[in-house]
Amino acid sequence: MSEISDEWTDHDCIFPEVAIEEGEGELQTGMKVLVPCPQCGETPLDHLEWSEHQASESQKALLEAMPVRILYHWAPAARRKQIIRYGLRPRSRATTSSIAAPVICLADSPSWAWALSGEQRNAPSGEWDLWQTRLDIISEPLVLPGTDRLSGIYEVRTTERIYKRHLWYVATRIKA
Ligand SMILES: [Zn+2]
Repeated sequence: MSEISDEWTDHDCIFPEVAIEEGEGELQTGMKVLVPCPQCGETPLDHLEWSEHQASESQKALLEAMPVRILYHWAPAARRKQIIRYGLRPRSRATTSSIAAPVICLADSPSWAWALSGEQRNAPSGEWDLWQTRLDIISEPLVLPGTDRLSGIYEVRTTERIYKRHLWYVATRIKA
């Protein structure tokens, strides 16, 4: 390997924030911008594109390694009738505010799915139903990798409906 390629791979890029000294056009004086990594010259935008590429590659790898995975979703039992009738429809996530768009979130174990939904502090108490489906029958899945998860999957999200024929009711538990 040449010296140059070592330089490219052996560090985590940093993008120093600098204040614009003399404004021009859309850049106003005092505005802060990120400048390229001083070590390798990579721009913040290239870095973002590279990270997105890495994320989509690892999603592809996870899907290829094991396309058939059982996934779980907890929903308040008040929605059971609707789910039995219409399946799971994407809705704005009630338990966290980090995702604005309507989405269905699933995880590959009941306990992890619970940690991400029912166990959240602002999730309603009472009866919750556990629903089971499979990754390979979900439309447009977004697989979020999780390196500290044994399965390699943190969460799976979809903005598409999951049909009732693809859902199986597992059990109900009570959140105190
Ligand atoms: Zn760099």
